[in-house]
Amino acid sequence: MMPTRTIHKPSAPGTTAHYLRDYDRTRREFSWAQARLELVGRADAHLNIAHEALDHRIALGSGDIVAARFIDRDWNRVEFTYRELKRLADRFANVLGALAVPRGATVATLLGRVPELFAVGLGTFAAGAVFSPLFSAFGPEPLKTRLQLGHAQVLVTTETLYRRKVAALREALPELRHVLLLREDSGGALPERCADFAALMRNAPDAYDPAPTTDADVALLHFTSGTTGKPKGVTLTHAAVIAQHATSRLVLDLHPGEVFWCTADPGWVTGIAYGLIGPLTRGVTMIVDREEFDAQRWYRILEAERVAVWYTAPTAIRMLMKAGTALTRTRTYPQLRHMASVGEPLNAEAVEWGMEAFGMPFHDTWWQTETGAIMIANFPACDVVPGSMGRAVPGIEARVVRRTGAGTLEILESPEQVGEIALRPGWPSMFSSYLEDPNRYRQCFIDGWYLAGDLARRDQDGQFWFVGRADDIIKSSGHLISPFEVESALMRHPAVAQVAVIGVPDAVAGQAVKAFVELRSGFEPSDALRLKILGHARRLLGAAVAPREIAFSDSLPRTRSGKIMRRLLRARELGLPEGDLSTLEGRE
Ligand code: ATP
Ligand code: MG
Repeated sequence: MMPTRTIHKPSAPGTTAHYLRDYDRTRREFSWAQARLELVGRADAHLNIAHEALDHRIALGSGDIVAARFIDRDWNRVEFTYRELKRLADRFANVLGALAVPRGATVATLLGRVPELFAVGLGTFAAGAVFSPLFSAFGPEPLKTRLQLGHAQVLVTTETLYRRKVAALREALPELRHVLLLREDSGGALPERCADFAALMRNAPDAYDPAPTTDADVALLHFTSGTTGKPKGVTLTHAAVIAQHATSRLVLDLHPGEVFWCTADPGWVTGIAYGLIGPLTRGVTMIVDREEFDAQRWYRILEAERVAVWYTAPTAIRMLMKAGTALTRTRTYPQLRHMASVGEPLNAEAVEWGMEAFGMPFHDTWWQTETGAIMIANFPACDVVPGSMGRAVPGIEARVVRRTGAGTLEILESPEQVGEIALRPGWPSMFSSYLEDPNRYRQCFIDGWYLAGDLARRDQDGQFWFVGRADDIIKSSGHLISPFEVESALMRHPAVAQVAVIGVPDAVAGQAVKAFVELRSGFEPSDALRLKILGHARRLLGAAVAPREIAFSDSLPRTRSGKIMRRLLRARELGLPEGDLSTLEGRE
């Protein structure tokens, strides 16, 4: 592995005291039972996400604090206090009651980042129904599959999206009893078999006591990103809020009253766990940008909204790097004190760029839809080794393991061995099922461990280093090559903006490494540049690991949640079927 320096903490003076100051001590003292108790107050209390996010927060004095501020294209701001958000959520819970939607039924949304999505989500939790947020750019086919798989009884969407995507599917969705529409202008007739969301909300009472749900009741249905194959339906229970709260405190370090910006869309698990639930349980003010990524706009938001804690993704960070540090410097960010990242491996280069551009590193965090909350992380008070994902969150037992046969595995206790990330079940946000696929669910558990399907190694300090998704790993001349390691080395070349590495068949080596490179602005593809980048990679990695081939690409295929789809590059390279493309960016 390439040598990297350690970024030492504590960070700048004037920052709030971190919740996690001593990792080992917090880990020793932490228990999930205690984390639950701290959240709900009594061991025998019911657990309901809406209660913890709103009622409990209001009882703690956050009622008049702004819970969420939505910013539109023209910089208009609409904001809701915790108390106002509760009224909206309660109205929606009453709407569900009036429509006789039973507890446990699925309520889906097909909405952009709008206040109604928050009201529907929180109202659905309060009513004890299951919230399934769908990404608004999905086309008809992916929508149909997800609504069918989730047995959705209610869909809340806009009139425009309904006419464009859903109307023609109604016959195929017999279980979908209620479609509630947000209307851009309320003139004209509603489409058939639809109701007016705003009218229902107006007529509903604005007080509701959250249903007495239990820890085991399903609250959320998320679909995975589809990076490695067909997206899976993942259910999380109300107990997920315990882990989402604990990690919002210990990892994101959210203090009540602070401004927090999670850039993920609520169509993905991050946008709900840390774009809705976790932050509300911490009493922060969330920023919600209704627009898509734009470097200038993002810097303006960070400055003008006085963002203190920022949770974003490697793709966005790399795009900011591509736009250049001069642009970062056109503004100042005196309130910003903590930056974190999730979704893809975060290259050491990007962590270092955080230091250069903002004077602090990005803190990598690792988790999955299936884990429901952050599992491995860099903590704000702990030193950061760029390129490492950090250590297991308190309460999480994480190991590196090797499958040794059907139903058995070996825990790789000595450091630096590469194996699959395994987590000991018992954390409250662990998924409760893969929808309609109990077999697949069972197969994730071996010998009392949950196997994540990602490869990593753990160093002697307990820091995890991402190696690659099990499907992406490259086997060449008997070596296991980590695509992440090769990509990280290529990222160090000044011409490289983004890169994806795959294995291609090779008669001698089995597989050879091929890299797809997106260039920074100011660089043009040429054979000379290709040779320079190859030379750079060989110097850093050695000939056995460096790519044999480099192809320039204008834009790499990504999921809508911003992950590079190596499986698609592989399929195209080999002329194989492209598989499920429902989550490919730019598709409808
Ligand atoms: P699918 O399961 O449908 O193929 P997906 O795994 O991308 O899609 P998500 O649950 O959204 O769906 O993403 C979780 C995955 O994202 C992890 O298993 C891991 O591969 C990757 N990931 C998340 N955070 C990190 C990180 N910090 N470093 C490296 N990889 C990460
Ligand atoms: Mg996955």
